[in-house]
Amino acid sequence: MQSRTKILHGSLLTGEDSDSLLAAARDMAQQLLCSAGHRGQSYGDCRCCRKIFADIHPDISFIRRGYQKDGKTLRAEIVVDQIRAVAQDSVVLPNEAPRKIYLFPEADVLNTSAQNALLKLLEEPPEGVFFLLCARNPDALLPTVRSRCGIYHVGGEGEDADSELKALSAEYLAALGDEFALLKWQARAEKLDMATMRGLIPVLSEAAASALRGKALLSLQEQLRECSEMLRLNVNSKHIAAMLSTYRNEDYNFD
Ligand SMILES: [Zn+2]
Repeated sequence: MQSRTKILHGSLLTGEDSDSLLAAARDMAQQLLCSAGHRGQSYGDCRCCRKIFADIHPDISFIRRGYQKDGKTLRAEIVVDQIRAVAQDSVVLPNEAPRKIYLFPEADVLNTSAQNALLKLLEEPPEGVFFLLCARNPDALLPTVRSRCGIYHVGGEGEDADSELKALSAEYLAALGDEFALLKWQARAEKLDMATMRGLIPVLSEAAASALRGKALLSLQEQLRECSEMLRLNVNSKHIAAMLSTYRNEDYNFD
Protein backbone atom coordinates (compact mmCIF):
# COMPACT_ATOMS: atom_id res chain seq x y z
CA MET A 1 0.00 0.00 0.00
CA GLN A 2 0.91 3.66 -0.28
CA SER A 3 3.32 4.13 2.59
CA ARG A 4 4.75 7.50 1.60
CA THR A 5 1.57 9.47 1.02
CA LYS A 6 0.01 11.54 3.76
CA ILE A 7 -3.08 9.87 5.17
CA LEU A 8 -6.11 12.16 5.21
CA HIS A 9 -8.45 12.37 8.22
CA GLY A 10 -10.97 10.50 6.15
CA SER A 11 -9.79 7.54 4.08
CA LEU A 12 -12.05 5.39 1.94
CA LEU A 13 -10.66 1.95 1.13
CA THR A 14 -12.51 0.25 -1.70
CA GLY A 15 -12.17 -3.20 -3.21
CA GLU A 16 -13.91 -6.52 -3.67
CA ASP A 17 -12.64 -8.44 -0.69
CA SER A 18 -13.58 -7.56 2.91
CA ASP A 19 -10.55 -9.28 4.41
CA SER A 20 -8.13 -7.41 2.16
CA LEU A 21 -9.88 -4.14 2.97
CA LEU A 22 -9.58 -4.75 6.69
CA ALA A 23 -5.94 -5.75 6.33
CA ALA A 24 -5.21 -2.56 4.38
CA ALA A 25 -7.01 -0.51 7.06
CA ARG A 26 -4.84 -2.14 9.75
CA ASP A 27 -1.71 -1.24 7.75
CA MET A 28 -2.92 2.34 7.65
CA ALA A 29 -3.65 2.29 11.38
CA GLN A 30 -0.11 1.04 11.93
CA GLN A 31 1.27 3.99 9.96
CA LEU A 32 -0.80 6.37 12.03
CA LEU A 33 -0.28 4.91 15.48
CA CYS A 34 3.06 3.08 15.72
CA SER A 35 5.65 5.46 17.13
CA ALA A 36 8.43 2.95 16.38
CA GLY A 37 7.80 3.57 12.68
CA HIS A 38 6.90 0.02 11.64
CA ARG A 39 5.38 1.18 8.39
CA GLY A 40 3.75 -1.46 6.26
CA GLN A 41 5.39 -4.31 8.16
CA SER A 42 2.49 -6.50 9.12
CA TYR A 43 4.43 -7.99 12.01
CA GLY A 44 5.97 -4.89 13.51
CA ASP A 45 7.36 -6.24 16.75
CA CYS A 46 6.30 -3.68 19.29
CA ARG A 47 3.46 -3.52 21.78
CA CYS A 48 1.58 -1.00 19.67
CA CYS A 49 1.69 -3.06 16.47
CA ARG A 50 0.90 -6.31 18.28
CA LYS A 51 -2.22 -4.68 19.69
CA ILE A 52 -3.19 -3.31 16.29
CA PHE A 53 -2.93 -6.71 14.60
CA ALA A 54 -4.76 -8.42 17.46
CA ASP A 55 -7.57 -5.83 17.14
CA ILE A 56 -7.17 -4.81 20.79
CA HIS A 57 -5.54 -1.40 20.47
CA PRO A 58 -7.42 0.96 22.82
CA ASP A 59 -7.17 3.87 20.37
CA ILE A 60 -8.84 2.04 17.49
CA SER A 61 -12.61 1.77 17.69
CA PHE A 62 -14.39 -0.58 15.33
CA ILE A 63 -17.78 0.73 14.26
CA ARG A 64 -20.00 -2.10 13.13
CA ARG A 65 -23.70 -2.83 12.78
CA GLY A 66 -25.37 -3.21 16.17
CA TYR A 67 -27.94 -5.78 17.28
CA GLN A 68 -31.69 -5.42 17.04
CA LYS A 69 -33.81 -5.36 20.20
CA ASP A 70 -33.83 -9.17 20.40
CA GLY A 71 -30.08 -8.99 21.01
CA LYS A 72 -29.42 -11.72 18.41
CA THR A 73 -30.10 -10.35 14.95
CA LEU A 74 -27.72 -7.83 13.42
CA ARG A 75 -29.28 -4.62 12.16
CA ALA A 76 -29.09 -4.03 8.41
CA GLU A 77 -27.47 -0.63 8.87
CA ILE A 78 -25.16 1.44 11.01
CA VAL A 79 -27.51 4.03 12.51
CA VAL A 80 -27.11 7.68 13.41
CA ASP A 81 -26.95 7.11 17.19
CA GLN A 82 -23.76 5.13 16.66
CA ILE A 83 -22.18 8.09 14.86
CA ARG A 84 -23.39 10.48 17.57
CA ALA A 85 -21.56 8.28 20.07
CA VAL A 86 -18.45 8.43 17.87
CA ALA A 87 -18.72 12.24 17.79
CA GLN A 88 -18.81 12.39 21.59
CA ASP A 89 -15.98 9.93 21.98
CA SER A 90 -13.82 11.59 19.34
CA VAL A 91 -13.13 14.68 21.45
CA VAL A 92 -11.69 12.52 24.26
CA LEU A 93 -7.88 12.28 24.08
CA PRO A 94 -6.35 8.97 22.96
CA ASN A 95 -5.29 6.43 25.61
CA GLU A 96 -1.72 5.68 24.62
CA ALA A 97 -1.11 6.52 20.95
CA PRO A 98 -0.64 10.05 19.64
CA ARG A 99 -3.81 9.65 17.55
CA LYS A 100 -7.06 7.76 17.52
CA ILE A 101 -8.89 5.91 14.80
CA TYR A 102 -12.46 4.94 14.02
CA LEU A 103 -12.45 1.98 11.69
CA PHE A 104 -15.56 1.02 9.75
CA PRO A 105 -15.13 -2.51 8.29
CA GLU A 106 -18.38 -2.05 6.29
CA ALA A 107 -18.88 1.67 5.75
CA ASP A 108 -21.32 0.95 2.93
CA VAL A 109 -23.98 -0.05 5.48
CA LEU A 110 -24.07 3.41 7.08
CA ASN A 111 -27.59 4.70 6.53
CA THR A 112 -28.19 8.20 5.17
CA SER A 113 -28.61 10.01 8.47
CA ALA A 114 -25.56 8.23 9.88
CA GLN A 115 -23.60 9.34 6.80
CA ASN A 116 -24.73 12.92 7.25
CA ALA A 117 -23.61 12.85 10.88
CA LEU A 118 -20.28 11.35 9.80
CA LEU A 119 -19.91 14.04 7.15
CA LYS A 120 -19.82 16.71 9.86
CA LEU A 121 -16.97 14.84 11.54
CA LEU A 122 -15.11 14.49 8.25
CA GLU A 123 -15.52 18.19 7.60
CA GLU A 124 -14.10 19.20 10.96
CA PRO A 125 -12.29 16.24 12.44
CA PRO A 126 -11.10 16.68 16.04
CA GLU A 127 -7.33 16.94 16.16
CA GLY A 128 -5.53 13.63 15.74
CA VAL A 129 -8.71 11.73 14.84
CA PHE A 130 -8.82 9.55 11.72
CA PHE A 131 -11.69 7.72 10.05
CA LEU A 132 -10.92 4.63 7.99
CA LEU A 133 -13.88 3.55 5.89
CA CYS A 134 -13.82 0.16 4.16
CA ALA A 135 -16.44 -0.26 1.43
CA ARG A 136 -16.98 -2.99 -1.13
CA ASN A 137 -19.70 -0.81 -2.61
CA PRO A 138 -18.42 2.78 -2.37
CA ASP A 139 -21.31 4.02 -4.51
CA ALA A 140 -23.56 3.40 -1.48
CA LEU A 141 -21.84 6.35 0.17
CA LEU A 142 -23.02 9.92 -0.38
CA PRO A 143 -20.91 11.84 -2.91
CA THR A 144 -20.27 14.43 -0.20
CA VAL A 145 -18.81 11.75 2.08
CA ARG A 146 -16.66 10.28 -0.70
CA SER A 147 -15.31 13.65 -1.73
CA ARG A 148 -14.10 14.28 1.84
CA CYS A 149 -11.99 11.14 1.77
CA GLY A 150 -8.74 10.08 0.22
CA ILE A 151 -9.69 7.06 -1.89
CA TYR A 152 -7.54 3.93 -1.97
CA HIS A 153 -8.29 1.00 -4.20
CA VAL A 154 -7.35 -2.29 -2.56
CA GLY A 155 -7.06 -5.15 -5.04
CA GLY A 156 -7.58 -8.77 -3.95
CA GLU A 157 -3.95 -9.03 -4.99
CA GLY A 158 -2.81 -5.44 -5.57
CA GLU A 159 -1.45 -6.21 -9.04
CA ASP A 160 -4.74 -7.56 -10.32
CA ALA A 161 -6.46 -4.20 -10.07
CA ASP A 162 -3.42 -2.56 -11.58
CA SER A 163 -3.20 -4.92 -14.54
CA GLU A 164 -6.92 -4.53 -15.18
CA LEU A 165 -6.43 -0.77 -15.45
CA LYS A 166 -3.46 -1.25 -17.77
CA ALA A 167 -5.46 -3.63 -19.96
CA LEU A 168 -8.39 -1.21 -20.14
CA SER A 169 -6.02 1.60 -21.09
CA ALA A 170 -4.34 -0.43 -23.82
CA GLU A 171 -7.72 -1.47 -25.23
CA TYR A 172 -8.88 2.13 -25.28
CA LEU A 173 -5.81 3.35 -27.14
CA ALA A 174 -6.08 0.49 -29.62
CA ALA A 175 -9.75 1.30 -30.19
CA LEU A 176 -9.20 4.99 -31.01
CA GLY A 177 -10.40 5.68 -34.53
CA ASP A 178 -12.55 2.54 -34.60
CA GLU A 179 -16.08 3.48 -33.67
CA PHE A 180 -17.29 -0.06 -33.04
CA ALA A 181 -14.30 -0.96 -30.86
CA LEU A 182 -14.80 2.24 -28.89
CA LEU A 183 -18.44 1.39 -28.23
CA LYS A 184 -17.41 -2.04 -26.98
CA TRP A 185 -14.86 -0.41 -24.71
CA GLN A 186 -17.46 2.05 -23.45
CA ALA A 187 -19.83 -0.78 -22.49
CA ARG A 188 -17.12 -2.25 -20.26
CA ALA A 189 -15.88 1.01 -18.82
CA GLU A 190 -19.28 2.34 -17.83
CA LYS A 191 -19.65 -0.55 -15.39
CA LEU A 192 -16.55 0.45 -13.41
CA ASP A 193 -17.13 1.71 -9.91
CA MET A 194 -16.15 5.31 -9.36
CA ALA A 195 -12.97 4.49 -7.45
CA THR A 196 -11.73 2.27 -10.29
CA MET A 197 -12.62 4.93 -12.86
CA ARG A 198 -10.65 7.46 -10.81
CA GLY A 199 -7.74 5.03 -10.84
CA LEU A 200 -8.05 4.50 -14.59
CA ILE A 201 -7.48 8.12 -15.66
CA PRO A 202 -3.82 8.44 -14.55
CA VAL A 203 -2.99 4.96 -15.91
CA LEU A 204 -4.58 5.86 -19.23
CA SER A 205 -2.71 9.15 -19.30
CA GLU A 206 0.60 7.35 -18.80
CA ALA A 207 -0.20 4.77 -21.47
CA ALA A 208 -1.22 7.54 -23.90
CA ALA A 209 2.09 9.30 -23.35
CA SER A 210 3.96 6.33 -24.78
CA ALA A 211 1.45 5.42 -27.51
CA LEU A 212 0.52 8.82 -28.97
CA ARG A 213 2.41 11.86 -30.22
CA GLY A 214 1.93 15.52 -30.95
CA LYS A 215 -1.52 16.95 -31.31
CA ALA A 216 -3.27 13.61 -30.69
CA LEU A 217 -1.50 13.26 -27.35
CA LEU A 218 -2.14 16.84 -26.30
CA SER A 219 -5.83 16.72 -27.06
CA LEU A 220 -6.28 13.36 -25.34
CA GLN A 221 -4.46 14.67 -22.24
CA GLU A 222 -6.80 17.66 -22.32
CA GLN A 223 -9.78 15.28 -22.47
CA LEU A 224 -8.39 13.26 -19.55
CA ARG A 225 -7.95 16.40 -17.47
CA GLU A 226 -11.58 17.20 -18.13
CA CYS A 227 -12.57 13.68 -17.03
CA SER A 228 -10.60 14.07 -13.79
CA GLU A 229 -12.38 17.30 -13.10
CA MET A 230 -15.77 15.66 -13.74
CA LEU A 231 -14.82 12.76 -11.46
CA ARG A 232 -13.89 15.24 -8.78
CA LEU A 233 -17.45 16.53 -9.07
CA ASN A 234 -18.69 12.93 -8.78
CA VAL A 235 -19.93 12.64 -12.33
CA ASN A 236 -20.58 8.90 -12.76
CA SER A 237 -18.60 6.29 -14.67
CA LYS A 238 -21.27 5.96 -17.33
CA HIS A 239 -20.84 9.57 -18.31
CA ILE A 240 -17.04 9.45 -18.19
CA ALA A 241 -16.98 6.29 -20.35
CA ALA A 242 -19.24 8.03 -22.87
CA MET A 243 -16.99 11.12 -22.90
CA LEU A 244 -13.96 8.98 -23.60
CA SER A 245 -15.62 6.88 -26.26
CA THR A 246 -16.89 9.90 -28.21
CA TYR A 247 -13.45 11.50 -28.12
CA ARG A 248 -12.46 12.18 -31.71
CA ASN A 249 -9.24 13.29 -33.19
CA GLU A 250 -8.18 13.21 -36.83
CA ASP A 251 -4.56 13.17 -35.90
CA TYR A 252 -3.94 9.71 -34.49
CA ASN A 253 -0.31 9.02 -34.91
CA PHE A 254 0.70 5.68 -33.57
CA ASP A 255 4.13 5.30 -35.09
ZN1 LIG B 1 5.21 -0.96 15.76
